[in-house]
Amino acid sequence: MQENVLISKLTTMRLGGPARYVQEVTEPKQVAEAYDFARKNSLPVYVLGYGSNVIGRDEGFDGLVLVNKLKGVETVSETGDEVVIKAASGEMLDDLCGFTAERGYTGIEAMSAIPGTVGAAPVQNVGAYGQEIANVLVGVSAYDTSQGRTLWIDAADCQLGYRRSIFNTTEFGRYFITAVTIKLRKGQLRPPFYISLQAFVEQNGLTDFSPMAIRQAVTAVRAGKLPDPKQIASSGSFFKNVVVDDATAAKMQREGVRTYEEGGRNTVPSGWLIEQTGLKGKEFHGMRVSDKAALILINESAHSYADLAAARQEISDAVYKKFGFRLEQEPVELA
Ligand SMILES: Cc1cc2nc3c(=O)[nH]c(=O)nc-3n(C[C@H](O)[C@H](O)[C@H](O)COP(=O)(O)OP(=O)(O)OC[C@H]3O[C@@H](n4cnc5c(N)ncnc54)[C@H](O)[C@@H]3O)c2cc1C
Repeated sequence: MQENVLISKLTTMRLGGPARYVQEVTEPKQVAEAYDFARKNSLPVYVLGYGSNVIGRDEGFDGLVLVNKLKGVETVSETGDEVVIKAASGEMLDDLCGFTAERGYTGIEAMSAIPGTVGAAPVQNVGAYGQEIANVLVGVSAYDTSQGRTLWIDAADCQLGYRRSIFNTTEFGRYFITAVTIKLRKGQLRPPFYISLQAFVEQNGLTDFSPMAIRQAVTAVRAGKLPDPKQIASSGSFFKNVVVDDATAAKMQREGVRTYEEGGRNTVPSGWLIEQTGLKGKEFHGMRVSDKAALILINESAHSYADLAAARQEISDAVYKKFGFRLEQEPVELA
């Protein structure tokens, strides 16, 4: 267990003051031990994976941060056309996408190159290019802090929705997800694909749609517009897309505003809204609106959360003034 570790070193936005205690968890038994330690010392606990969707605040965290490094992937069962896989929650999602694509399993290949751990995937129901974890999740194993034991939670009980689940809403802070079980099909996706992936497929004349080929295409598309967290500080998409009802979507389409169907919901892309305000590529308070994808906020030189908050306010106000939508931040704050 380390003391006074900067949260900026544990999160991809690279902001945030010191956490009082930080512990890497490499074995399941350490989870219960860490919560016992926290309880005895009356400390709050925060679970961190790769830190790509968490923002540290200047005041830091007066508690225990658990950095999840649980590893291991196993095939639970297999039939002629389906396979069930269980992955320890500290595995990187991209590694799992590689593991499954190599074996010809479809279901998560379009989520390749999302930076983050497997355990965080159900928390905000990660998704990209038409796939989301909700479509393949069987359930999770999780340490329940209120019962002091590890139990199984069925996918239906995780209540996955657009960037939400029980883990980041009603039951936030209650569970440490230790493993994730998914069911994939043997086979491949069929065109048409998600817009930008489809465009890449057409431009490059691709005819191989195997999970590995789609994984490679998605990785190439993402590399062209999304920052690599190892090189550039960001939390990826900084705002959630705006969810609108059918009537609003229809009205907006008539007015020439783009809406998309995402997992059964009408959404207006926040990146497009920001772009329309003319802020794409602009830098203020040390934060830059990415010139490749306006939904992404890059930390160029901000050293404090206050800088980020000021930039967020300006962007949000500009969108509100032009369109009347209040943007909602996607990354959560470590508090
Ligand atoms: C460049 C870039 C691109 C991105 N692209 C996408 C994208 O295409 N689609 C998308 O959906 N997201 C995307 N993201 C966001 C992010 O990668 C995902 O949210 C990812 O799932 C976060 O994983 P993590 O391990 O970093 O979680 P963290 O950021 O460490 O944690 C996120 C939340 O999950 C909780 N949590 C983490 N692990 C556990 C656990 N084991 N048990 C309980 N709670 C836990 C944390 O407490 C926190 O509240 C992107 C981010 C970046 C920086």
